[in-house]
Amino acid sequence: MAGPQKRKRHHKGDTHLKKRWRTRRRTKDLDQIDEDLQIENASKLLHQEIDDDKPGSGQHYCLHCARYFITSEALKSHFRTKVHKRRLKALEIEPYTIEESQRAGGLGSYIHPKKRTMETQPVDDETFDPSKDVDMK
Ligand SMILES: [Zn+2]
Repeated sequence: MAGPQKRKRHHKGDTHLKKRWRTRRRTKDLDQIDEDLQIENASKLLHQEIDDDKPGSGQHYCLHCARYFITSEALKSHFRTKVHKRRLKALEIEPYTIEESQRAGGLGSYIHPKKRTMETQPVDDETFDPSKDVDMK
């Protein structure tokens, strides 16, 4: 009779996943970005001091993607990209909390994550309206 100790464990699959995670360029997790979107944090991030170590001296930051851009033009064209629009969609659903996962696991009734509206941050440019030319297919 084979005891539980004799059972083979297959971990081949997750080693390469971990490796990929490690080598990946580290960006913020969605829940961290969610915190950045709180008004007090957002205004700090959007009005940073000039920091020459950051791309564009830290003056052109996309809150939702946690990325710096070199110029305001680059930032604005980023707002029109699929990457950015996908990120907005992803952030429309509130972060999955432990409480929610417990509900999903049968401890209490499951409540669907709240949907909210996510908008591209305003830019100091009256001619620019990111809600125009939205191309989300
Ligand atoms: Zn973005």
